[in-house]
Amino acid sequence: MSVVVRVVVLGPPGAGKGTQAMFLKERLGACHISTGDMLRRAVNDQSPLGLKAKKSMDKGKLVSDNLILELIGKHLSQEDCKRGFVLDGFPGTRPQALGLEKLLRNLDLQLDRVVFINVPRDAIICRLAGRRTCEKCGTMYHLVFDPPSKEGVCARCNGVLYQRSDDKEDTIAARCDVYKSQTAPLIDYYRKGGLLQEIDGLGNSDDVKGRVFQSLGFDVA
Ligand code: ADP
Ligand code: ADP
Ligand code: ZN
Repeated sequence: MSVVVRVVVLGPPGAGKGTQAMFLKERLGACHISTGDMLRRAVNDQSPLGLKAKKSMDKGKLVSDNLILELIGKHLSQEDCKRGFVLDGFPGTRPQALGLEKLLRNLDLQLDRVVFINVPRDAIICRLAGRRTCEKCGTMYHLVFDPPSKEGVCARCNGVLYQRSDDKEDTIAARCDVYKSQTAPLIDYYRKGGLLQEIDGLGNSDDVKGRVFQSLGFDVA
């Protein structure tokens, strides 16, 4: 079976998209494109893009489609995406999905699969509230489900772990609403297009990894 390499990981905030995208990246040697990570870097750098995006991000709202498509367009054509890509957090709206199709057409590429990680709302809130991220390498931890061996320190790179400012109760609720109204319609869109692979996102991250890999026809490493 040919290896599937161009994948979108779709799901509510905190579903484990980033966690699974990292596993896929390791397995495929493909690039991992996380719009959230790119935007947070831009905010940190105080670049013009970051300054524009920050207001929406702080409120848990989506950044404009044009801005996101510009960001993605620059990355998809880069060398490290030649061996495939894992898109995480993108597309987030229908216009973004249409924009992605156009970008891929121009590059003469096709999307292979959309992996939808399905996690109910109460589990999501718990996952988001306990999320901690390495500020250096981006590895995700969870205070309860996946704690680092040394508190506050990344096991991979010794970087400092931080809590995202939008992982607070009010913003979490806003992000869940935005997901429901703007991103969740993509589930049906991709189902109709024959690309959707729905995965039960409950259970630990290795269980979910097994399901994701199996759905893509990979051996579970
Ligand atoms: P999560 O990992 O919890 O799903 P992300 O890291 O993907 O969240 O996104 C964090 C924030 O970045 C979002 O709340 C939104 O403001 C912005 N963002 C990320 N991806 C997109 C996108 N595709 N379209 C618009 N805004 C986005
Ligand atoms: P997303 O990118 O969808 O917002 P993340 O991959 O950042 O989600 O995961 C959100 C939080 O939940 C992180 O703290 C992560 O360590 C944790 N997590 C990821 N997958 C699982 C899982 N299967 N079970 C429990 N916690 C998980
Ligand atoms: Zn790290």
